[in-house]
Amino acid sequence: MSNPTPLQATCLCRTSTIQIPTALPLTAHVCHCTTCRTSHGTLFAMHTDLQSLPFSESSPPSTFRTYQSSPNSGTAYFCSNCGTYMFASYFYMREGARHEGFCVSTGCVSLSDSYKSENPTVKLEDVLSIDFHCIIKDTIDGGASPWAGDWSKETQVQFHGNWEEPPMPSQEDAEELGRKHVYPTGRKELDGWCRCKGVKVRITREDEARKYKTGVCVCDSCRLATGTDVVPYTWVPRDHAFFVTKSSDGEGEELQEWPAVWDDATKAKFGNMIIYESTPGKVVWGACGTCGARVFYQKYGKTVKDGRDLVEPLTGLFGADVTQGIMHLDFLDWVAPDGGVYSAEDAEKEGRAGIMTRNVNVMYQKWVKEMKSRA
Ligand SMILES: [Zn+2]
Ligand SMILES: [Zn+2]
Ligand SMILES: [Zn+2]
Ligand SMILES: [Zn+2]
Repeated sequence: MSNPTPLQATCLCRTSTIQIPTALPLTAHVCHCTTCRTSHGTLFAMHTDLQSLPFSESSPPSTFRTYQSSPNSGTAYFCSNCGTYMFASYFYMREGARHEGFCVSTGCVSLSDSYKSENPTVKLEDVLSIDFHCIIKDTIDGGASPWAGDWSKETQVQFHGNWEEPPMPSQEDAEELGRKHVYPTGRKELDGWCRCKGVKVRITREDEARKYKTGVCVCDSCRLATGTDVVPYTWVPRDHAFFVTKSSDGEGEELQEWPAVWDDATKAKFGNMIIYESTPGKVVWGACGTCGARVFYQKYGKTVKDGRDLVEPLTGLFGADVTQGIMHLDFLDWVAPDGGVYSAEDAEKEGRAGIMTRNVNVMYQKWVKEMKSRA
């Protein structure tokens, strides 16, 4: 058990594959903060804590692009080809002192090939587990915390992310936040942003009774695209989804039609995005080219029932202004197909379902049922 690099991290396009020297086992924390949500496009981030980054901070691998929100902030490292947010350094306060932390996005992590050949029976879930949840306060409405993982197993739950303040006692309390939260009535549009606010998405509806279906996928592609094992999407007809850009005079905003096809002309129009085709001519993923946030998935030819094009913005971007809550029960129809989440078998096959997705699959389904019974 002395493999020097037991883990590796990989992005969606696999251009950025990094070996990680570390001791095992490792723990990951689940962060529900606005920065993490808008960095990954997911409702929470799953960050595996590392002693240090597996590369030099001053000269990271050339396939990475980096983002710092301010000169004193930590640094995000994402793949310049596909946009997957893979590593980060960050700062946090504990016992009155500023500490630097390092992490890798758990969804990118797998056992390295050399470790697997030496330890053929070990699964990732045997050596990596969730340790704590933090900053649920940012979600306003509890976010996904009623079904994110299993708090009875996880050691600490920090409502604020401030270690000096008391932890949140139970998962039921988070559920209670959701029950109590009231969304504004009559909303006709819902906006989403990436972390750097360079990409803004808007979905609209004429009728406030109309809700957009939203589901949770745990397939390998979604995981590698976001760096998170649990990925929510909202399905919107393309004619009700827009990009909001600055007007040419820089004063106001302009609504841009969501492209039917990401060709050279549309790519140029949204030049601040990384557009990656995982299946050429068929499947496109968009990410913010400045901060690395995953923004959308689009499969050409996928339509809603009436034949209109469908686009799939990442649900974690919506309501990112820390005032309105993030589950948008007035606007989004959270659905659970038979298995609870989509592609649960992928996580089982990869030996990683025990980290979180097996629990999510059960608890998400229960939560959706409860939502329906309340509606
Ligand atoms: Zn990549
Ligand atoms: Zn966070
Ligand atoms: Zn951005
Ligand atoms: Zn998926």
